[in-house]
Amino acid sequence: MPDQLGDWTRTHTCGALRTDDVDADVVLLGWVHRVRDLGGVTFIDIRDRAGVSQLVVRDNDALLVAAKRLRSEFVIGVRGVVQRRSDDTVNFKLATGDVEILVREIRVLSEAKTPPFQIAEDGAVSEELRLRYRYLDLRRPRLQHNLGLRHRVTMAVRRYFDAHGFWEIETPILAKSTPEGARDFLVPSRVHPGEFYALPQSPQIFKQILMIAGTDRYFQIVRCFRDEDQRADRQLEFTQIDVEMSFARPESVYGLIEPLMQEVFKEIGRDVSVPLPRISYADAIAKYGSDKPDLRCGLEIVDLSELFRDSEFRVFKQIVADGGVVRGIVVPGGNKYSRSQLDVLVDQAKQMGFSGLIWVRPGEPPLSSVKALNADALGTALARAQASAEDLLLMAAGPAEATSKLLGQLRLHVAKKENLLRADEFAFTWVTDFPLLEYHEDDARWYSTHHPFTAPLDADVDKLESDPGAVRAKAYDLVLNGTELGGGSIRIHDSALQARIFRRLGITDEEAKMRFGFFLEALEYGTPPHGGIALGLDRMIALLAGESSIREVMAFPKTSNAVDLMAGAPSPVDARQLTELHLKTQP
Ligand code: ASP
Repeated sequence: MPDQLGDWTRTHTCGALRTDDVDADVVLLGWVHRVRDLGGVTFIDIRDRAGVSQLVVRDNDALLVAAKRLRSEFVIGVRGVVQRRSDDTVNFKLATGDVEILVREIRVLSEAKTPPFQIAEDGAVSEELRLRYRYLDLRRPRLQHNLGLRHRVTMAVRRYFDAHGFWEIETPILAKSTPEGARDFLVPSRVHPGEFYALPQSPQIFKQILMIAGTDRYFQIVRCFRDEDQRADRQLEFTQIDVEMSFARPESVYGLIEPLMQEVFKEIGRDVSVPLPRISYADAIAKYGSDKPDLRCGLEIVDLSELFRDSEFRVFKQIVADGGVVRGIVVPGGNKYSRSQLDVLVDQAKQMGFSGLIWVRPGEPPLSSVKALNADALGTALARAQASAEDLLLMAAGPAEATSKLLGQLRLHVAKKENLLRADEFAFTWVTDFPLLEYHEDDARWYSTHHPFTAPLDADVDKLESDPGAVRAKAYDLVLNGTELGGGSIRIHDSALQARIFRRLGITDEEAKMRFGFFLEALEYGTPPHGGIALGLDRMIALLAGESSIREVMAFPKTSNAVDLMAGAPSPVDARQLTELHLKTQP
């Protein structure tokens, strides 16, 4: 029977004691991290979420016997006196490393089975085992740190929005299907046979309705659900910092979110200088081949089409004549690549989908993968691309967007290879003016790039019917190191324009009424211009913590296969539950 706490109260956490506390009588409560039995003395490291302290047991036979019984992960209480460690035993790796506690009494509060992996060592453990025993995994310092960071960031976010007049308002979890474009999780209604709630993919409609309701400024740190096939680092449920404000222009949102990023990055001691750069979607695609450009490395895509309009190199000339482009990137210091390194690069480019990649480097005689290019043309291309003598120019030709997107992939490949993407550098950018609509060949119709409530740019509204693909939106993404941190838009606040967009999307008036009728009706009762954004909290914390997976910053994530290995979800339910819900499963 384990001891009880009795009348003990913790005096300090396991990370708190310093030399100032020498001679103090203390009570520490925590887990046995390590035990070192040296015969006449036993050292015990005791751990809680605040840190580790060293306990010493000596000159007391009964205590030494008790200490010998201790195993890793037992929960214990100790009472003792703080003493300074001798110079040669100071542990610089521990915040408490200058002191130790001479133990007077030990109470075993709870024994522990041998854990399936070491908590004290940061060794490699399979993720499956870690998730199955998540409560043990969470005891490890790395995850404790991540959860602590997550807590501090969410608190900073709440303080920030509160200080700016935003109200945190909860929106329903049992809701109606929302239009973010992914599959909904459905919850059968017991009371209304055959009817279902949908878990929110985002509180989009609710937050807009809050603006109609005069709430003016709303935020919520909110769980969202999307039933998507699990791509690499997605979770079925994830957390957004969801924001909406009335009377907003895109600049109002940038002006709100940029200082928020400053506050958040303060939590890891980093300054963010504002205003953050902005780049239009069109420029981002042209210059970086991506709508999530990683700006930690230059490697900007340059357009060389004009040089080849009249060149002798017929392949390029023809492509340009047909309305295509010739574009390239300069690899800094790339002149040093050996011939075989270049061959490997060209092969890798082919795997990415390049039909051909041409490399050119300054040098005498001109070295190039293409004989038909004469020295003059090459020299001009190198000069136009501002390549220096140490550099390498890589060129490709074809349709503008596709060529830039391929070069965008190649750019990241080269940047990784050349170590140009530093993990401790944070390069933000806004990407603005996204296309409002995108055409899907498979079902031959237009879809919203963002969601159907996004407002078009005033200047482009006239093209909605005549040239839908050219209509830009008042939509923006916040991108950090090539990752989309979040996105949002200014919304349509005019019911006639909203109806027009639905028609453009091939949603019949009847269908619109069925799905969003309540919202269309609300729009007709005096709607302020409004807009907002949602930021992915999990991704943001992962970037702050330097973790590559969002699973490392969530307490209880699911596997990439959508399973909760600890609780064993999903799981079958009993027949009675199904009957109550008016459901039958198919074998
Ligand atoms: N609801 C959008 C999303 O979840 C964000 C927004 O437009 O505010 O992506």
